[in-house]
Amino acid sequence: MLITDTTIVNAQYVIEQHRDIRIQDGKIQEIAEHGKCMQTDTDTVNGRDLLFMPGLIDSHMHTGQQLLRGQVLDELPMIWTRIMLPFESTLTPEKMRFSAELAALEMIHAGTAGFVDAGSYYMEEAAEVYRQSGLRGALSYSTMDQKGLPESIADTAKGALEKTDALYDGFHRQGNLKVYYSLRALMSCSVELMEGAAARAQERDTMLQAHMNEYAGEVNFALERYGMRPYEFLANRGILSSQFLGAHSLMLSEKETELLQEYEVKICHCPFSNCAKAVPNTPAYLNRGISVGLGTDGTAHGGMSLWNEMKIFRSVMNVRYGAPAAEPRIMPAETILQMVLEGGAAALNEAGSIGKLETGYRADLIGISLNQPHLLPSRNLIHTLVESVNANDVTHMMVDGKWIMKNREILTLDEERILYQARNWMRKGEE
Ligand SMILES: [Zn+2]
Repeated sequence: MLITDTTIVNAQYVIEQHRDIRIQDGKIQEIAEHGKCMQTDTDTVNGRDLLFMPGLIDSHMHTGQQLLRGQVLDELPMIWTRIMLPFESTLTPEKMRFSAELAALEMIHAGTAGFVDAGSYYMEEAAEVYRQSGLRGALSYSTMDQKGLPESIADTAKGALEKTDALYDGFHRQGNLKVYYSLRALMSCSVELMEGAAARAQERDTMLQAHMNEYAGEVNFALERYGMRPYEFLANRGILSSQFLGAHSLMLSEKETELLQEYEVKICHCPFSNCAKAVPNTPAYLNRGISVGLGTDGTAHGGMSLWNEMKIFRSVMNVRYGAPAAEPRIMPAETILQMVLEGGAAALNEAGSIGKLETGYRADLIGISLNQPHLLPSRNLIHTLVESVNANDVTHMMVDGKWIMKNREILTLDEERILYQARNWMRKGEE
C-alpha cells in the first residue's frame, strides 16, 4: 500500500512535504521523498492535498454515555449521581450496541483511531461493534461494589471482577481490541475489589484504570476513610504500577505527583469535562516525565473531537499558567499533539508501537484535507493542526494497515443505517 506525494507530521513533530509512505503487514515500512519508495502496484492513495499523521488517541471515553449527548451541559453538579449513574443503570444490550455504533462513527470521522473506554455495561455488545469497526481500543466493565446502587447494576467484588474476566477471555487481543480491568472510582469500590482488580490485571498482564482525583469530595473521602490522599492510598496498597491509568488526575499533591513519577503511572486529562472541576498542573507533570494523554470523557461532555479538546486544553493552560507569566509557550502545539499521540499510545499500553509516523510503527494513520479556506495557506502547519483543524477535516483513516475510511466514506460500518436509526431514536424520544 502506498500513499504518495503527501505532507506528513514526522516523529519529531516537524512537517515534511512531498513524502511517500509505504505500508505492508500492518506496519509503516518506509517513508521517503516522493518517488523514492519501493514501488508497489496495489492500492495507491494520492496524498497531494492531504496531510497524514498518526491517528488520534482518546485516552478516556464512555461508550455507555453515547445516548446522553446534549443532556448534561449547564447541569448543576453532581451529574455523576444525578444523571450518569441512573442512565447507565437502564442500559440494555441493544442500547450498548447502538451506542458503540454511534461512538465508532463519531470517532472515525473525527480522526480518533484509538480509544480507551472507561467501562460500562453489556460491553460484549460494544466489543463486537468495535471489532467490526477496525478501531484500536481498550474496553472495560464498569466495576464497583458500593452499597445502594440501582438493582440492575448492583454487584459484589467477586461478581464485578468475573464480568471483566469474561470480557477479557472473549476479546483481549481479538483484532485491535484489548481488555483492561477498571475501578469506577475509589469511592465506589471496596478495598477487596481494588486489590482484586489490581491482582487480576497483573496476572493477565493488562492495564488497570480508574477515575482519579477528579473531585474535591473524592480526595476528602480518601482522607477521611483511609487517612491518605487517593494516589497515596493506592501506592500504600501496592496497586500503583506502570500498568495503571488514572483518568482526570486533576487535584494532585506534590507527594502524589512524586508517586506517579516513581511508579510510572499513566494519566490523562479531559479538558472540556475538567473545566467544571479543576485545572491540573500539567506543566509540572510533564516536567517530571509523567505520561499524560488527553481524553474526551465521552460524547456527553462536548462530543468526541480531540481537536476540540486540544484547543480547550491550550486555552486553559494559557489562562492559568501562560498569561500570568507572559509565557505563551507554556503548552506548545508540539507538546499538545505529543500528549494526544504518545500519551494516548501509553494509555493504550502501546508506547513505541503506535502514536508516531515512523518506520516500524503500526500503520494507524489519518489523512486531513488541507485544501480548504480555513487551513490554507499556513505559515506553520503544526500550529494550524492545533488551532484550526476540526473533526470534519479528516478524510482518511487507516488502523493497523487497513483502511477504515477513505474520502470520508466509512468502509467497515453501515453509516447510513446507523444514522437512520439515530434519527428514529430522536423522533421517538427514547430514554
Ligand atoms: Zn469518565
